Amino acid sequence: MTARIDTLLVHAGALRPSPEGAVVTPIFRTANYEAGEEGAADEVRYVRYSNTPNHRVLGARLAAAEGGEAGLVTASGMAAISATLLSALSAGDHLLCQAGVYGGTTSLMLRHLPRWGVEVSFVDLDAPETWAAALRPTTRLFYVESISNPLLRVGALDEVVSFCQGRGLTSVIDNTFLSPALFRPLPFGFDVVLHSATKLLNGHSDIAAGAIVADAARVEAARRTLNHLGGSLDPGACALLERGLKTLGLRAHRQSASALTLAHRLRVHPKVRRVYSPGLPDDAGFARASAWFQGVGPCLSLEVSDLPTAMALVKGVRVFTHAASLGGVESLIVRPARSTHAHFSAEERSALGITDTLVRLSVGVEDVEDLWDDLAAALG
Ligand code: PLP
Repeated sequence: MTARIDTLLVHAGALRPSPEGAVVTPIFRTANYEAGEEGAADEVRYVRYSNTPNHRVLGARLAAAEGGEAGLVTASGMAAISATLLSALSAGDHLLCQAGVYGGTTSLMLRHLPRWGVEVSFVDLDAPETWAAALRPTTRLFYVESISNPLLRVGALDEVVSFCQGRGLTSVIDNTFLSPALFRPLPFGFDVVLHSATKLLNGHSDIAAGAIVADAARVEAARRTLNHLGGSLDPGACALLERGLKTLGLRAHRQSASALTLAHRLRVHPKVRRVYSPGLPDDAGFARASAWFQGVGPCLSLEVSDLPTAMALVKGVRVFTHAASLGGVESLIVRPARSTHAHFSAEERSALGITDTLVRLSVGVEDVEDLWDDLAAALG
């Protein structure tokens, strides 16, 4: 289907003709399917193989939305990340990774991949001149996030693309913080785009899911790896994700606009020392975000004046919920030192710039004035 993104998010990949004329994709509540003709080479259709109608509709819809050839949904964002890395890399390979990516991804890189013979070097995405020194003859892949979690950094993504293209490296980007409604990395030049679909793509905080979009060969390789890792998405969760995707455009733009309004107001609050948002003109990521993205996404982080203020803020809010995760319709507040990065040592956290007084907000679709009143009251 060729259409604009908001139309694709509602219709692309839908079953045609629709079974029984159903207007939405029915949930195919079956784990296995009748085999075809004896001797035919068709693959077995089985829920763990992510090849049921619910999976196929979502794969096609996400591929259309991201401007890619093929798409695959997975049981979580981490399932998408691990299936992608394990299908692309073998023992002896090396990859470059942006320093300061999501804590679970960092743990996978630091604690698991090396046990299987895959080496990782972390690089500063703002210092492209340092990347070549980190290269090895075995380097295969460069892994980045469109906006990093939780410091909302926008790295030199254009330089990552040209660096990889010139050297035959696979460029992989986690686009969880923006979604294709706000940024489409594949037309920008990346090879693979990943998502925690638990976040903006689904948008209602009621499932865990992930997504991979790339060329057909890479997606098929990831699917075959996922088949054996066992990370397929349940068809019921597929239906919820499909429903969530239909309103992604509306939600992403609204949440982005509200996050920016709050960033501007918090920036001049006496108890806030610093606001991290690439939508603020004095933020290091502002020029890149304005040139590349259609919005800043739902998140912003703040450095508040001291620990008692941070704790009082998290405890005092009434409209925001104190909970991890992001991108849902309800606003959330969290201290990364106590959540996403709780399993890192104090030294590791400080090397990543994650202080005890850092607070991350995920802004939902509530009225922005109620969100502001809530934050202002809790800050005191
Ligand atoms: N990528 C980013 C940027 C995230 O923030 C998260 C989770 O918070 C993940 C990946 C992992 O996603 P999931 O929790 O769906 O496995």
